[in-house]
Amino acid sequence: MKIANEIRNYQNVINGNRTHSSSGKQIDSIDPSTGKVWATIPSSTIEDAESAVAAARNAFEGWSSLSALVRADYLRKIGDLIVQHGEELAELETRDNGWVIRETSYGLIPSLASYWYDAAGATAAGSKGDTVQLGSSSVGYTLREPFGVIVGILPWNSPLFTFTVKAAYALAAGNTIILKPSELASVSSLRYGELINEILPPGTLNVVSGDGVEVGNTLVCHPSVSRVSLTGSGNTASAIAQSTARNPKPMTFELGGKSPNIIFEDADLEKAAQGVTLNGIFTGNAGQICVGGSRILIQRSIFDKMIMKMKEAITEHSKLGDPMHPESSMGPIANAIHYEKVCSYIELGKKEGGEIIIGGRHGGQSLLPDHPHLAEGFWVEPTLIKVTSNSLRICQEEVFGPVATVIPFDTEEEAINMANDTAYGLGAGVWTTNLNRAHRMIRKLESGNVWVNTYRTVGPELPFGGQKGSGYGVDSVLEFTREKTCYIEIG
Ligand code: NAD
Repeated sequence: MKIANEIRNYQNVINGNRTHSSSGKQIDSIDPSTGKVWATIPSSTIEDAESAVAAARNAFEGWSSLSALVRADYLRKIGDLIVQHGEELAELETRDNGWVIRETSYGLIPSLASYWYDAAGATAAGSKGDTVQLGSSSVGYTLREPFGVIVGILPWNSPLFTFTVKAAYALAAGNTIILKPSELASVSSLRYGELINEILPPGTLNVVSGDGVEVGNTLVCHPSVSRVSLTGSGNTASAIAQSTARNPKPMTFELGGKSPNIIFEDADLEKAAQGVTLNGIFTGNAGQICVGGSRILIQRSIFDKMIMKMKEAITEHSKLGDPMHPESSMGPIANAIHYEKVCSYIELGKKEGGEIIIGGRHGGQSLLPDHPHLAEGFWVEPTLIKVTSNSLRICQEEVFGPVATVIPFDTEEEAINMANDTAYGLGAGVWTTNLNRAHRMIRKLESGNVWVNTYRTVGPELPFGGQKGSGYGVDSVLEFTREKTCYIEIG
């Protein structure tokens, strides 16, 4: 299907109904490839946030009373519905944040369905407790219970994926949920919520768009909300932790990264060159992925050879263009504010003494698309910056765009020290054919996820979370439950 060209107004989904903001105000959604308004979303109010909490609270008793098997049945039906509406959802995600259609339709949508099916299979585990014999006179056991109302706060770079991992497991465990997508990219989440509400009882899943401070803060601080799961920046995590400090509640924080991708001289260099550039950071979402391998560490003996191979891989395979076109492999920066930030980091890298090896342009041509209808879009070339010190700001701060630093190292120990020398700990890649070295590196890297001779793979079979400044907790069925302990005297 192709989305119609007229501007469509999307609405909140509260208590099973599509609703406008109580203020009547809308926020324009900008297509980042053209810089033009393509849809509007509600600019919701505190009142709207409170209505969503009330709806989720009312729905909780009914939803949590269902047996695990019945809940599983609902979740499987949602998985089927996602597949049926896959084309539409992929197009909305692509229009909303510029993530190329070849990835949203072939990679993202099937993976969303697989999370719903996995969550359906996890409903029983989410209600399973333990029994303990306490001598002959008493017995103890634990019950696993849902928390109640969950709030999921979403980032703009990956709305449908983050929506899914939060909603599927929160619902599997018997909670009800409110999702607050980013005011910079809410369309796909609002439509996703509408579709899911064709299946679920009213109020079980609600979606409210709007400003982070007004709507997001109201939701996370609301006394009827029992748990919060944020995917976003460290600043927002701090703001939420501070605003809930007087009435603390459990949190999952999935935050940013500054992930190292480390290439040893014994690696398959062809594979590594593509793995650390195209798959590691540039293609798909133009580096706007939390695990983007934004620091490329290369053993000195192969440094110059690898630079050549990486440049070749980028010029041959990164095709910047209309993200709706199936041949485009890299899209624009997702919004104007972030575009300015990414451009300023490229300038900072130069000012700090970094040498641009490829890219660095944002305006003009070279690797940038030259079609007139894309002229006002937020385009930045895939950019490699050679540096000599990992302590520069360009190596320490999250750029969250198609910008990676390249730095040489001599020994394994030096690579480990440099890789760990950051406030973050989300992802790390190791490229080597030496099995012992691979295992040593996995143990020593301070990172929630380590990939060896590959990068960026995620799936429902394994947990995904961060260490250090990249957050804590994972969105899984057990994390959306709490344990209750019971003692019974039988003597
Ligand atoms: P952000 O922190 O600016 O915003 C995230 C969400 O928080 C938005 O919905 C926003 O409206 C809301 N928000 C802002 N202030 C709030 C407040 N005081 N109370 C409640 N909600 C509030 O992040 P972003 O710019 O949208 O996303 C990019 C960041 O997300 C990057 O740092 C990226 O690495 C990270 N990210 C992490 C993962 C992961 O799994 N670890 C995945 C995707 C993105």
